[in-house]
Order: sequence, then structure tokens, then C-alpha cells
Amino acid sequence: MARVHIVGAGLSGLACAVHLAGTGREVTLHEAAGQAGGRCRSYFDAQIGCTIDNGNHLMFSANRAVLDYLERIGARDTLIGPPRAVFPFLDLRSGERWTVRPSAGRVPWWIFSAAQRIPKTHVSDYLAALRLAFAGPDAAVADCLTPGNPMWERFWEPLTVAALNTAPQEASAQLLWRVLRESFARGESACRPMIARDSLAASLVDPALTFLRGHGAEVHFNRRLRAIAFADQGATALDFGEHKVALAAGERLVVALPPGGAASVLPGLDAPQEARPIVNAHIRLPAPPPAGLAADISLLGLIGGTTQWLFLRGEIVSLTVSAAEALVERSNEEIAKILWAETAQALKLPATPVPPIRVIKERRATFAQTPQAVRRRPPARTSWRNIVLAGDWTDTGYPATIESAVRSGRTAARVVTE
Ligand SMILES: Cc1cc2nc3c(=O)[nH]c(=O)nc-3n(C[C@H](O)[C@H](O)[C@H](O)COP(=O)(O)OP(=O)(O)OC[C@H]3O[C@@H](n4cnc5c(N)ncnc54)[C@H](O)[C@@H]3O)c2cc1C
Repeated sequence: MARVHIVGAGLSGLACAVHLAGTGREVTLHEAAGQAGGRCRSYFDAQIGCTIDNGNHLMFSANRAVLDYLERIGARDTLIGPPRAVFPFLDLRSGERWTVRPSAGRVPWWIFSAAQRIPKTHVSDYLAALRLAFAGPDAAVADCLTPGNPMWERFWEPLTVAALNTAPQEASAQLLWRVLRESFARGESACRPMIARDSLAASLVDPALTFLRGHGAEVHFNRRLRAIAFADQGATALDFGEHKVALAAGERLVVALPPGGAASVLPGLDAPQEARPIVNAHIRLPAPPPAGLAADISLLGLIGGTTQWLFLRGEIVSLTVSAAEALVERSNEEIAKILWAETAQALKLPATPVPPIRVIKERRATFAQTPQAVRRRPPARTSWRNIVLAGDWTDTGYPATIESAVRSGRTAARVVTE
């Protein structure tokens, strides 16, 4: 069987390679960077004194493609999370704390109990989600729900920003409904949050590289694709600068690049180009917070400030701000000051001394998931006879996440073998 060349070793390229190599196909993976993982990577940070991730990545038990991928590469046990779906929240302005606990079955009984509902919300606020189910392709989340009420501020806005990395005023209502349908609508067992136990690399990247090498795949780093040579409606060669690769008859090419990179090598490709940033920070606390508190807040949603999610692993606190268009323009020092003040408040820690903080800005974390951009997501199959697309931004029907990247890689592998 002819070789498949995959360009881009992010999760879409890795997932595609794992599927193909696992079924005996000859695979070559070409990656521009010196490491795999793309937007989902880890590295040792001397200031914090441990391996950190470029961004906190939350996955869910509903992410079936991710779980299947982890199973294939032998890393299923490297994701950890609470045995039940529980989402504690804190309103930084009022100090109010509450916990969202989805019900076990498909009927969301919790929304009918005032004690279990989010404070100041009503049953009708939750039933409004059905408006998302009937949203048209041009509708934004804010067109379907009621901006400004407590439910908006405490549930719809944080959920939309976390899932779509796009403000609800412009985020696609249909895409948010897809998330709800695959998670909350299936009950508690589909909503369990999961994070990498040690690092993203240790869970999602390194075991995949080990799997690929064990299955005879070739993996090349520091190979940036500059151009593709075309003839007869197909790719005939890959230009990596000093290194050129001619594609033999029958060989296939999977372009698993971010949308900008894909558009630069594939003339005429229409892809969503506008991006939204995510800002993350990692803080090393002088000591782990008191045990009782730590048990409650391995994951904490924050309302009414700048920080949106706080993750706690021992003495390392990691913070996430999605759809961070305004924040990303501020200096790292300013960001660190704001995020530390909120962390100290949330964890009831003294404000000084300020511990070491690493701020990471990802300006192009995902594409802007607006209705217009969602319509431009291309399918895996292209009009070139031997080129297939993969990437979280392709038309997977799911928001640009690890799940979407892995689904796209799986689809690309299927198209290649058809
Ligand atoms: C800060 C942050 C937080 C996030 N949080 C979450 C989360 O909580 N949950 C979640 O599910 N998802 C999250 N995501 C999204 C998730 O990381 C992405 O959806 C996923 O990693 C995308 O994978 P990909 O393979 O599609 O693209 P990429 O990871 O971008 O992979 C593309 C690869 O192509 C390489 N490349 C680029 N140009 C070339 C070239 N010319 N030649 C060769 N190689 C090239 C790149 O180096 C990269 O390795 C987050 C993303 C960020 C940035």
C-alpha cells in the first residue's frame, strides 16, 4: 500500500498517523517545530520549576474520539478527574460559592430543585437552552438566550467562552447546542471533566510518538512545508526548503496544519482565518493550600473577574482566560498581577509575597467560532485527487478542541483508505 505523508504533528496529524499506522499503512509525519503537539504541548519551565502545559486543556467523558485515541496509544489511564461531574463556582464580587452537579440520567432533575440550581436562576432559564436546539445557522448564542440575567452571567457566558473560545454575542448557537447535546443532555456520566495527570505531552503526545515508532512510522521534526508542487489535479512533491519529497504514484498527502498554514500551501482553500486568543498562567504556591480546600477546588469556575477557570495540582495553580482579546494586549506583568490577586482571593491565601507566575499568551488559540466562520469549515476531502485535510478547524461538527482535532484525524485516515 502506498505511503501517506502527513504534514503537521498536532493532535489531528498524530491521530491520523496513529489510525493509519495502526492498520499497517506506511506513514511519514513531517512537523515544522522541534517537537510534536502543536497547540497542545508541554515544556520544562525553569521559573516555575516543573513541566507545564502551554494551556490548561480540559476534556470531558463525552469526548469519545479522545478516549479512543488514548486507548489506542496505551495512555487511557493518564487522564484524571473527579469520579462524578461536579463544577464548583465562586463569584469573585459577592464571594458566593455554588456547585453545579448534573443529574445521573438524561432528565436534568437538578434544575427542578432550587437547592441544586445555580443561585438566583429559575427553571425557565435552563429550559431556554431548547432555543439553541432550533437556532438557525446564522444565530449567535446571544440571539437565543437572555444576556445580562444571572443565568447568563453564571452559566451561559462561561460555558460558551469555555467551549467555543468566542464571546456569546458572536459565537455560533448551533455549535454550542452540539456541545450541550453531547454532554449535559446525556447526563452526568457524559460531563465528567478530565485533565492530563502529569502533562499534555505525557498523555496525548509522547505515547503517540512511541506508538508510531513501534509501528514503523517515520517522524521528522524541523521540517516546515513551504510549498506543494501540483500536476494533474494532485500533489506531486513537497518542498521543505533544503529538503524535497517527491510523491510516488498512489501516495497520499494529509495536510494537518492550522487554517493559515493550510491556506498558504493550498491555493484557493477557503478556511476560517480569524482567530481568538487564550491567556493562561501557571503559579507555584509556596505550599499546597489546606487539604479541605484543595479537595474542593481541583477545578474552580470563577465569575465576576478576569480569571475564568482555576486548576489546582498540588502547589501548582493554573488559570485560564478564554476569548481573551482585551487581556492579551496587556503586559505579562499586569496580567500576572490581576490573576494572582484573584487566585489569592479564591484560595484564601495572603496577597504577598507574590509567588513565581508564568503567563502564556496563545494569540491564535482557536478560530473565531462565529456562524460565518463555522460555515467556512471545509470537509476532509478536497478537490485534489490525493490531498486530504485535517485540523480542529475542519468540518467536524464540533468546536475547535482536542476532540475535534482527533475526530478530524480519524476522518482523514478513513478518507485516505477509501
Ligand atoms: C491555550 C489553549 C488552550 C486550549 N484549551 C483547550 C481545552 O481546554 N480543551 C480542548 O479540548 N482544547 C483546547 N484547546 C484547543 C486544542 O489545543 C486544539 O484544538 C488542538 O490542539 C488542535 O490540534 P490541531 O492538530 O488541529 O492543530 P495544531 O495543534 O495547531 O497542529 C498543527 C501542527 O502543524 C505544525 N505546522 C504548522 N505549519 C507547518 C508547516 N508549514 N509545515 C509543517 N508543520 C507545520 C505546527 O507546528 C503544529 O504542530 C486549547 C488551545 C490552546 C492554544
